[in-house]
Amino acid sequence: MTTQNDQRHQQRQQKIKQQVDERIAAATQDRGLLLILTGNGKGKSTAAFGTVARAVGHGQQAAVIQFIKGTWECGERNLLSQHGVEFQVMSTGFTWETQNKASDTLAAQEVWQHGKRMLSNALLDLVVLDELTYMITYGYVELEEVIQALQDRPQGQTVIITGRGCHRALIEMADTVSELRPVKHAFDQGLQARQGIDW
Ligand code: ATP
Ligand code: MG
Repeated sequence: MTTQNDQRHQQRQQKIKQQVDERIAAATQDRGLLLILTGNGKGKSTAAFGTVARAVGHGQQAAVIQFIKGTWECGERNLLSQHGVEFQVMSTGFTWETQNKASDTLAAQEVWQHGKRMLSNALLDLVVLDELTYMITYGYVELEEVIQALQDRPQGQTVIITGRGCHRALIEMADTVSELRPVKHAFDQGLQARQGIDW
């Protein structure tokens, strides 16, 4: 009985291995990706910064734009900026609280200039545009300009965009898109945001 089960298991595994090998052999393109992390669930920025850590761990160069000025300092920024990762954070204006269109646009434009610089720097293997989606939704940064900068970027450069409600044009352009779905969130049960977990 056991040997028959073992055999069947082995056959299944061989088949899976064969399928995986075929798919690996078919993946011949080598270029940077456009990766989008969107949806209402928690984990978009965490995953983007995790990828920065992964890249830096391989000796690669990464840079980050944070389009939302958080009220708290950012744990990943504290760590990763010590490892040569340039961070540009929206200095004034847009936070989750303030909504002054003129000053928000100015602040978004200012930090977007750094984004454009990063997207034209061939020395950067990875660029994270954290919370960019909201800038497009509110019209603080033009969609066409973002698309142009993404199209013109160095061939080997990977870009990660995070934020809820990502524009369809960017989703279509992307190579990998993950949508995070909120199955549950502690905040809804009255739990406070926690240092080291939420920021
Ligand atoms: P994180 O930075 O934890 O990966 P995120 O980038 O997916 O979260 P954002 O929409 O950028 O999510 O939210 C920023 C803050 O709101 C974070 O502190 C996050 O923990 C919290 N948050 C994320 N999703 C939810 C949710 N569904 N309900 C309440 N708070 C949330
Ligand atoms: Mg986020």
